[in-house]
Amino acid sequence: MNAAPQATLDTDVPATVSVLATLRADVVSGYLRPGDQVVQERLAERYGVSRAPLREALRLLESEGQVIHEPNRGYFVTQLSVSDLQEVYRLRALLEAEAITEAVPRLSPADLDAIAALAADVQDASWQADLARLTDANRNFHFAIFEASGMPRLVRLLRQLWDATDAYRAVYFDDAVNRDRVEHEHDVIVGALRAGDCAGVIEAHAAHRANSATTVSALLNGRSRPAETA
Ligand SMILES: [Zn+2]
Repeated sequence: MNAAPQATLDTDVPATVSVLATLRADVVSGYLRPGDQVVQERLAERYGVSRAPLREALRLLESEGQVIHEPNRGYFVTQLSVSDLQEVYRLRALLEAEAITEAVPRLSPADLDAIAALAADVQDASWQADLARLTDANRNFHFAIFEASGMPRLVRLLRQLWDATDAYRAVYFDDAVNRDRVEHEHDVIVGALRAGDCAGVIEAHAAHRANSATTVSALLNGRSRPAETA
């Protein structure tokens, strides 16, 4: 008999890992939205687990900034202010430009085909309006580009920044107009990548971020629609 691969782990750890994955999926699918209270009894029942691994998973999400804990009130899905969001997007602009600059000259034809296939996954999930899959596929698409930079620390920082706004990505993708725009913007990115046009890829990412930042900022300001759409 083979030894269990995680035999040294505490028995609660695998439960925490699976609860954490489910919690993340509930945030990216929009089941849990920014500002929502996390009702632990309800979630424990939904996931079919005890409160202990759920509490542990919430503590991990809190350390990532995805939920906040309020004394005597419990956990809430993080609600960002417009300035929080703008800070995240400004940092992303700097770091993504750096990753793209390093990545573009390194991409092989096989890498480009793989990235194009990831863009097709995004499109497929978009047409099915499967928000959890769409959020994942979108992330896979962009990180395939960033990872080609060969700079793991930079990619780790970018993941943290993306994590911080996951709940808002679900809100953004919930609108079919935004989903159509995302598909078009990804096509532009893939075209520029294939042309080896580094400045074009950076510019297309800037437009892609600006459109989601404009829409999400408008939502945070309580307006129903962005003032401008590209
Ligand atoms: Zn995208």
